[in-house]
Amino acid sequence: MGRLALVTGASRGIGRAVAITLAGHGMDVAVCYKSNAEMADAVCAAAEGAGVRAKAFQADVSSPESVDALFKEVKESMGPVSVLVNNAGIARDNLLIRMKTREWDEVLASDLSSAFYCARAALRDMVKARYGRVVCVASVVGLVGNAGQCNYGAAKAGLIGFAKSAAREYAGKGVTVNVVAPGFIDTDMTGVISEDSRTALLAQIPVGRLGRPEDVAEVVAFLASDASAYVTGQVLAVDGGMTMC
Ligand code: NAP
Repeated sequence: MGRLALVTGASRGIGRAVAITLAGHGMDVAVCYKSNAEMADAVCAAAEGAGVRAKAFQADVSSPESVDALFKEVKESMGPVSVLVNNAGIARDNLLIRMKTREWDEVLASDLSSAFYCARAALRDMVKARYGRVVCVASVVGLVGNAGQCNYGAAKAGLIGFAKSAAREYAGKGVTVNVVAPGFIDTDMTGVISEDSRTALLAQIPVGRLGRPEDVAEVVAFLASDASAYVTGQVLAVDGGMTMC
């Protein structure tokens, strides 16, 4: 039996690619979704094609009660989690002076607090096993900012501070905590961006194309693997060179 990876936001986009890629690397996968049950089932079917176990779990990762119930259910039906990928996230863009408190709170809860709730629930078993991999999916917006995304930028920058602190706390227990910071990846989240903005963004990407979910998934897979044992507290941008400095 392979290690068990729990991937949040795995019904679509980057999380979907991560779940299928980890399955391809021999891991069992707990496919966590919020509302798209059919899509999550399709991800499980694709993952099972790699000969591993895969099961879909509904949860709202912005709620601590829902996260605790999720981890209990996953452990009962699949066993303890060795790899946690905190991928679920939302954007609620607005200019700062127009931003509703609700838009701020929802993004902070879904993109930042969620990682805390999930890591807290996962770490006990990881420490007991003296093995764990936590990978947080942040964003280049957390590194360099973006007008209209104060809430999202704060959440993603917060994830980086969270991951570095957790990495220091559990480095001696066989648990690594790292961050990937995707640039502009072609998913539903970026599907709403206008053609003009896409063209302008493309001009800032040295590699000359948008990222694919699989580009991010391969990097997550490395950070989720045994091979990355000596890498912790790091932030790896997967952005086609957009933020190199
Ligand atoms: P996406 O296509 O919009 O998919 C979002 C996923 O998160 C879905 O599976 C959704 O579940 C799940 N989700 C959202 N809120 C949730 C909640 N409260 N509880 C549980 N699941 C929840 O997004 P994406 O583009 O793949 O982005 C994935 C991650 O990468 C996000 O953290 C995002 O901020 C980050 N990122 C994306 C880009 C990009 O260019 N796309 C760039 C940088 C960073 P349902 O399908 O059930 O709704």
